[in-house]
Amino acid sequence: GEGIMRFREMIRDIPDFPKKGILFRDITPLLANGLLYQQSIQTLAEFCNQCQAQMVVGPEARGYVIGAPLAVVTGCGFAPVRKKGKLPYKTRSASYALEYGEDTLEIHEDAIMQGQRVLVADDLLATGGTMSATIDLVQQLGGIVVGAAFLIELKELGGRQVLLDKIPQLPIQTLVQYD
Ligand code: IMP
Repeated sequence: GEGIMRFREMIRDIPDFPKKGILFRDITPLLANGLLYQQSIQTLAEFCNQCQAQMVVGPEARGYVIGAPLAVVTGCGFAPVRKKGKLPYKTRSASYALEYGEDTLEIHEDAIMQGQRVLVADDLLATGGTMSATIDLVQQLGGIVVGAAFLIELKELGGRQVLLDKIPQLPIQTLVQYD
């Protein structure tokens, strides 16, 4: 609809960031527009409610910009996923492949209760590596991933299928798609 076109207009393209050949999709102009930011969270909140989530889990740092307001608006709890070594309490970890090497994400071991319904959220779905590791962490704790929400999907990188290979029929909502 019309609203979704406006989201797209407020995403800024930055060529060659963080390195040559990468076209970075910058959401800060969208976040700076209070009405659009609110609209994007409200749209994802409807999806979160449809999924009947009880908790929202998002990876640092831009996952918090989406996940935390989603939790507040829907009345869900929020649990942060962070890079290795940042969380103070006992953790579980999951590694994922980067272009060169790998990275490790962590979650507090008491962040999710067995059987809790969890929506995972981030700003952008690219290869799906970050969200796959986030889903692993939720599943290690016995959580049920009932949906995945993003502002942006970079379709050619195939992240949607990566998530569906992990959890067949997982409901996935993205507000702006790039081919
Ligand atoms: P993936 O793990 O390949 O799916 O990449 C998604 C993660 O990288 C998310 O946490 C994003 O915040 C970040 N990311 C990758 N590309 C972009 C981009 O073009 N703009 C903003 N964030 C990006």
